[in-house]
Amino acid sequence: MSKKRKHKLPTSGDRLVDWHFRQIVDVLEKGIYAIRKKKRLVSMDDKPPRKAVSGLYAPDLDMIFLNAAKSRHPNWQDSVATLIHEAGHKIHPLAKHRSIEALERTLMIKFTDEQKRYLRKLIPQREVKKDPPPAKDIPEIKEGKKEPVSAAPETKPENQAPETATPEPNNEPNKL
Ligand SMILES: [Zn+2]
Repeated sequence: MSKKRKHKLPTSGDRLVDWHFRQIVDVLEKGIYAIRKKKRLVSMDDKPPRKAVSGLYAPDLDMIFLNAAKSRHPNWQDSVATLIHEAGHKIHPLAKHRSIEALERTLMIKFTDEQKRYLRKLIPQREVKKDPPPAKDIPEIKEGKKEPVSAAPETKPENQAPETATPEPNNEPNKL
């Protein structure tokens, strides 16, 4: 830990915010194997048809993947938000996706533009083609967010209001 950083990190003036910033920078610069950018990013642990995700952290590869599609991250700040999110999963392995989302939102408010631009520079320009291989131990997938596979296919008669309407959960994370 004696190795000094070449440049001083940008600060916000808030020590707790800067502590989080340093943690994220440290993990992204030397705590993970790599950051990759990929179009049509899907989690191979999802069952087909796999839904695209904005980002994911693959613990077995120790790599963060960001979706390269403009629709996912219309501006660079959105990419930085996802980067913070996935770094958060690495730093806080016991935290649930919801907590990491809250952390991401808070830090995006608290980090200065200079801090965000610093994180932006850590995102590679080039995209990769290959999907991340399936990880058996991404916590959120183990947590059972997915529906159990039911043997009987559901038949939905049209024009009939279901009496016990179970609304489709629309809170699926688009970041893993
Ligand atoms: Zn998450």
